[in-house]
Amino acid sequence: MRVVYSPAHLAHDVATETVMGAVIPANEVAERAERIREALEADRGFTIEAPTEHGVDPILAVHDPGLVRFVEEAWREARAQSIHRPNLVADTYPTFRMFEGMSAEFLASRPETRNAAGRAGWWGLDTANPLVAGTAGAARAAVDVALTTADLVLGGERAAYGLCRPPGHHAARSMAGGYCFFNNAAIAAEALTRATGERVAILDVDYHHGNGTQQIFWRRRDVLYVSLHADPERQYPFFLGRADEIGEGEGSGANLNIPLSAGTDDEAYLAALDRGLAAIAETPGEAIVVSLGFDTYGHDPIGDFALTTAVYRECGRRTAALGRRLVILQEGGYHRPSLGANARAWLRGAEGRPHDPLPAAGFGTNGSAR
Ligand SMILES: [Zn+2]
Repeated sequence: MRVVYSPAHLAHDVATETVMGAVIPANEVAERAERIREALEADRGFTIEAPTEHGVDPILAVHDPGLVRFVEEAWREARAQSIHRPNLVADTYPTFRMFEGMSAEFLASRPETRNAAGRAGWWGLDTANPLVAGTAGAARAAVDVALTTADLVLGGERAAYGLCRPPGHHAARSMAGGYCFFNNAAIAAEALTRATGERVAILDVDYHHGNGTQQIFWRRRDVLYVSLHADPERQYPFFLGRADEIGEGEGSGANLNIPLSAGTDDEAYLAALDRGLAAIAETPGEAIVVSLGFDTYGHDPIGDFALTTAVYRECGRRTAALGRRLVILQEGGYHRPSLGANARAWLRGAEGRPHDPLPAAGFGTNGSAR
């Protein structure tokens, strides 16, 4: 399988994040992608290639120009305003309650703040999204990785994998959040449906609900969004991801959320996956964008599912068995020692190759980029 990877992600060098006010070592770190790259390089069945530049237009097809400007300008702007923190993180977020009773016309007439911390709140969802000097370049490269992976599939590959970092599925049209700046999967899906004129399905198997992807395609019929994720009653992003969210207008029925309980094991997960795949099978179209996360793994420090490495191969196999072309893009997954083996298992499954467990030692021991 052809794999697209860019070392530009290394510059998104985040050291800490904030969880409910506490500063902790960051989970979304460069080592994640390096572990996966190493495991795939060691497997002769994968070839790794660089992305090609696609420019800003495919990003603007999905995102508000203001968000794109914010990501590009934020670090420089913060420094110019003598904000010298290791990460740029907002401390004020404009919750919709701040504007209760005020008209949309009034709100649209408000000028955007030029304060860097204020802008981080305006264009952001949460404090788990530290922005550093190299974030803009890494986020742009992750989009190029996604679009190059889509190009490979448009060019005839049955399946290709884009090792995107930072991830993307929490980023909405006008909002970064949850380690995500640009929605790589949504940008790829938009490019695919424009290139082919066909409907595209997004299968999101990250542990978290992809609130950004859902929001972007909420009223769209041409992009089906199917997500298996932790019930938002107990997990981030808390306010979206429930089963009764089916889309609106033309998009009504083109959004399928399958929230899952704590402790979900291989068997329960495969049953949920079959439900999601059945919905995709009923929808015309040739391409599936897979938002692939491994925070569903039993030892993930953020998640609470109980999946094993072996089941990822079966997940890949069942997804590929639909007979559609797969644009597989990396999202989350934070148990670093297992990331390489889990990605390799899923991708080998998608190619119909047997499960071949990696030795317990030998990978990931020197994978740290930090
Ligand atoms: Zn996740």
